[in-house]
Amino acid sequence: TIALLTGASGFIAGHVLKILLEKGYTVKATVRSQSKAEYLKGLYPADSKLTFAIVEDIAAPNAFDEAVKGVDVVVHTASPFHFKVTDPVNDLLDPAIKGTTSILYATKNFAPQVKRVIVTSSFAAILNPSKGDWPEHTYSETDWNPITWEEAIGPNPSSTYRASKTFAEKAAWDFLEKEKPNFTITTINPPLVWGPMIHDVTPETVNTSNASIWSLVNGSQATIPPTAVPAWVDVRDVAEAHVNALEAPAAENQRYFVVAGKYSFSDICDIVLKNFPQLAGKVPTDGVIPSKESYNLDNSKSKKDLGIEYISLEQSIVDLTKQLVAWV
Ligand code: NDP
Repeated sequence: TIALLTGASGFIAGHVLKILLEKGYTVKATVRSQSKAEYLKGLYPADSKLTFAIVEDIAAPNAFDEAVKGVDVVVHTASPFHFKVTDPVNDLLDPAIKGTTSILYATKNFAPQVKRVIVTSSFAAILNPSKGDWPEHTYSETDWNPITWEEAIGPNPSSTYRASKTFAEKAAWDFLEKEKPNFTITTINPPLVWGPMIHDVTPETVNTSNASIWSLVNGSQATIPPTAVPAWVDVRDVAEAHVNALEAPAAENQRYFVVAGKYSFSDICDIVLKNFPQLAGKVPTDGVIPSKESYNLDNSKSKKDLGIEYISLEQSIVDLTKQLVAWV
């Protein structure tokens, strides 16, 4: 089976790529530049099943028309995840939304043999930020972020990011209904994703989600930061969910909230200090905010259909910190 994997240079995609190759898929990986292809090729020097297509900008018209040709399944992870927003539309919204519609149209028009497309969405498309802690609620696949376009283009970069994921996922489901393609769509909706990094990364370029743990380890936080979104998952489980969704019969046209559980940054600082006592003095211990009730998280559908057995918070943080500690 030939899989097209978009955004292969990314944190999550690095793990998706690893599992796809382990499972015997032939992978056509899209990256923005030849140097990103060289890095990935260097991880699997003997693997002739890995090829590349350069897609410099997923927001460009017809970005994927060439890349999709000849593939059997598609995994679309590419989408900007950062908060350095100067122009909400150009920086986040267009690449997320147009990138998604572009891969879907390209697949329909140039790869009619494709039966399944997996799209990386997010808890950002599920969470309703206006509800705050909402302790009486349990988030699941049935929830949608009600964010508006006005908020999307407003001054708050995290609203713009959440909107980019919400509108991109909506565009995918709208496409399915309107275009009636030969393929089914599955979305994977993770909250904050942590865990070991196998993509090309330095202390300066740590991906946005792991940067929150890096900042706890490198001495840059004087006090324990508030826990804004108390939901997390390990990257290896997210990657497995993407690959299992390609194969699980129940996953056709489904959305999966792939979430391990709740956390607080207090818990994480405790885990880091317990396992890496050499980081005492760097990891903040002041400013513990008493834990409060917050929304619950339902991951039963992902366990049932995709067979995910979630990695524990301690395991995930320890495995990531082993890497980070070498940078301190
Ligand atoms: P990364 O930043 O590591 O990966 C993002 C990928 O998208 C990179 O390969 C990047 O390329 C590519 N990309 C971004 N913008 C463009 C563009 N305009 N044109 C071409 N390629 C582009 O982040 P993650 O691995 O964390 O994110 C992967 C996916 O997972 C995204 O869809 C994100 O929204 C989603 N997600 C992530 C979560 C997390 O906590 N990490 C949580 C929920 C969802 P390059 O490397 O060249 O910049």
